[in-house]
Amino acid sequence: MFGRKKIKVRLAPSPTGYMHVGTAQSALYNWLFAKKNGGEFLFRIEDTDIERSTKEYEQSILEALEWLELKWDGEVVHQSKRRIHYRRALEKLITNKKAFWCNHTKEELEAERKEEEENKQPPRHICSCKSSSAFGRHYPASNPGQNFILRLAVNEQKITFNDVIRGPIEFEASLLGDFSIAKSLDEPLYNFAVVVDDAEMGITHAIRGEDHISNTPKQILIYEALGLPLPIFAHLPLILAPDRSKLSKRHGGMAVADYKKDYLPEALINFLGGLSYTFSKEIISREEMVKEFDLTKVHKSGAVFDVKKLNWLNSQYIKKLPPKEFKNLTNLNISDAAAALITERLERLMDAQEFSYLWSEPQYGKELLKWKNSGFEQVKASLSRSLEVLKAAEMSREAILAGLEKLSVELGNKGLVFWPLRVALSGKEKSPDPIDIALALGKQETIKRIEKAISLL
Ligand SMILES: [Zn+2]
Repeated sequence: MFGRKKIKVRLAPSPTGYMHVGTAQSALYNWLFAKKNGGEFLFRIEDTDIERSTKEYEQSILEALEWLELKWDGEVVHQSKRRIHYRRALEKLITNKKAFWCNHTKEELEAERKEEEENKQPPRHICSCKSSSAFGRHYPASNPGQNFILRLAVNEQKITFNDVIRGPIEFEASLLGDFSIAKSLDEPLYNFAVVVDDAEMGITHAIRGEDHISNTPKQILIYEALGLPLPIFAHLPLILAPDRSKLSKRHGGMAVADYKKDYLPEALINFLGGLSYTFSKEIISREEMVKEFDLTKVHKSGAVFDVKKLNWLNSQYIKKLPPKEFKNLTNLNISDAAAALITERLERLMDAQEFSYLWSEPQYGKELLKWKNSGFEQVKASLSRSLEVLKAAEMSREAILAGLEKLSVELGNKGLVFWPLRVALSGKEKSPDPIDIALALGKQETIKRIEKAISLL
């Protein structure tokens, strides 16, 4: 148990791009943790960066979460509507002398940074404004001058926290210097806004990507300065590209929206769930994941995004799709038998186009009808006999197979029967068994296609 407080977690993306698969995984693990513990999964849009945030990106993030059916609790919180809260918190820190206005110029800070670099010191600014006798005397109440920036007064101390996934982590506060927390009372910087929001939203567990670890010591110092209780931190491992570098835009296929056309949401959820966690089985529903999920058991090391695994999982979920649902998803107007023939063999939804011969007459050159070194006359004879079989047989696998096998024995060559028939029906070098295709096409269309093939010879 984590005390008497109700568990609250959150997903807090910035709408400065489409939703990344890593964010989707964070959303899933937060959601699983909330469901497992009877808690709440909250959703906050970090849209304080006015220049880079757009409504379009925000909409795409909402749509991605809805598509994945990761439903959040309550209203969507927008940082852009919460400025008064940040302002109050900043004023409180100034009053308590925990934050101060620094008026060092860009040039001064740049020169300091250079010197630190030469002396192999960490880049930081230990500000002389902090130690001036009139603490905060540069408070630009009436004139918010351009040089002023609000910094947290940081004392030398060790910052430690116990990461649920990674164990104890320690930082030296002095390495951070008096870091900036706001450009003005109305322009809080990232870490400050996050702390104020998480505290006011009652977030008990900050579960997020490993790339946030470096933000955590700063956030802890801000919590302490504001006199707020700390949440529990858990940093999820990164998702890696096959070459084990951080998955980034150059690897392509990072936006959740890109997966919509090819993948079923349940397959992607299953894949992302198993990427950094070992569940008891490979194919697992989200309900089963909730039952098994234990935050302390999330892997520490990065997980490689293996698209082959994703495709395999997707094929397993596609197989289970009822024909009607498959036809809805792909907008294909085909028979149930044709839908079943496709779903049995499909890894990605868009690849259904490879089965276009099931709904439109295939085009192919007559050369393709030839089986090995047989001549056109032999192929024509074989197809004519197959046509008789198909005309006479009832449309069942057993009946057609019996007829074609009998014919194979007569001609002394199975390939000579099955190959041209398959090409006549699909127009492809590779396709399912001709009997399956015939059953999907129906008797009339099957006969029509064989007759057409014969006419080519
Ligand atoms: Zn300064």
